[in-house]
Amino acid sequence: MTLPYVCLNCDEEVTLDTAAYKLYCSEGCSQEAELVRYLRRCTKDGRIHEPDVAKAIQIRLAAVMAGGYPKQARCIPPKIRAAVIARDNGQCRACGGPGTEIHHINGSSQALGNLQLLCDPCHNKKTMAGMVMVHPDEKLQIKSLLFRARVGAEQPMRICGDEENWSGQWRRLMSEREDELARLVEDKIKNRRPMTKQEKRYWDQLCWRSMSKEEREELEEAQAEADWERDYPEEAAYQPA
Ligand SMILES: [Zn+2]
Ligand SMILES: [Zn+2]
Repeated sequence: MTLPYVCLNCDEEVTLDTAAYKLYCSEGCSQEAELVRYLRRCTKDGRIHEPDVAKAIQIRLAAVMAGGYPKQARCIPPKIRAAVIARDNGQCRACGGPGTEIHHINGSSQALGNLQLLCDPCHNKKTMAGMVMVHPDEKLQIKSLLFRARVGAEQPMRICGDEENWSGQWRRLMSEREDELARLVEDKIKNRRPMTKQEKRYWDQLCWRSMSKEEREELEEAQAEADWERDYPEEAAYQPA
């Protein structure tokens, strides 16, 4: 069964497994669409010529071209942050100046060995360097040409690149997509076709939303009981004489 359901940003088919993003096939596509809208706005109001904005755009663009920036990687728990600052004596590991940013050396691992303290300029430099490591292959060239075309086009080429009307559109699109997803899962259940883990989770979400407060509480209680029986089988089996 083919889903009549494609990514707003790239027309790639969206499966129930990637439906977490609802409107897009991936976090990368969601970020790319967001950047298209942002660039179109900045071009229109002239902010694109401000050095700060230009720098921020350059970094986000490099990230998007490299397939997106892992969002979790940016969030470092305070404990880990403090440990990195202490280990590096508050100094930028690249230039020795006062350090302010925690840099992931490779990938998004939060292990101390993968983190280092840097100052803002050194952090930007390293982030950029890490991203342009992606080879400028044909696919990437096409992607960046397309991107430029989308930003420069008089009329937005895609609904998700429409900087003026997007905020009014996305809610409607989201509920359309959610209805479509619900229909697909229901179809599977009716035809007794096996569901993937993702599909089951989505189905649970749907049921949860359609329940009353009492029904939810009842289910939560039953779930807690089942968990308890699983985790403490001996205590659960104990029958007072
Ligand atoms: Zn996509
Ligand atoms: Zn530095």
